Amino acid sequence: MEAGELELLIPAGEIERGVRELGSRLTKIYRGKQVVVIPLLKGGFMFASDLIRCMDLDLQIEFLGAASYGEQTRSSGEVRLTLDTTMPLKDRDVLLVEDIVDTGLTLAYIQKLIRSREPASLRTVVLLDKTARRKVDVEVDEAVFDIPDRFVFGYGLDSPGGFHRNLSDIVTIRE
Ligand code: 5GP
Repeated sequence: MEAGELELLIPAGEIERGVRELGSRLTKIYRGKQVVVIPLLKGGFMFASDLIRCMDLDLQIEFLGAASYGEQTRSSGEVRLTLDTTMPLKDRDVLLVEDIVDTGLTLAYIQKLIRSREPASLRTVVLLDKTARRKVDVEVDEAVFDIPDRFVFGYGLDSPGGFHRNLSDIVTIRE
């Protein structure tokens, strides 16, 4: 993909500001509690690693991995667990950190899995929300940015073929 084919959607500075503000809100919400933060892999790793550095709290990290079968830019809704947590979540305050919610099917599957482990609380934060494409009613407590129905990548999200996760900005393909 040539640089000229990319369109800048959310520059790194704007992401940084949004993530910092979310981190301060979460610090207030969870004050006095010990939180288990669960980045959803692969896409959520960069967002989560920046977010936890803006959270002034006692926290632990666990990982969940999910992938959905489908075409390169559209998920089928059939979700596969690729990595599971290692510590018990029962009676813990769990913060799920996801890169993007599109149809909502991935989040719905993952939230159901976490709830089956009886945490004391479950909160979900996402970096990007494509509200227009939602198929299931899924609980999202905070979305840093609402975005239009475009396929995006960068800042942890991959382009078709699995590349471009290392970009600092969120970009899309020029139409
Ligand atoms: P959902 O299950 O909500 O339809 O899709 C969620 C998953 O699909 C996300 O975790 C992400 O992996 C992928 N996804 C949805 N939209 C995009 C997008 O615009 N760009 C990228 N890179 N992945 C997306």
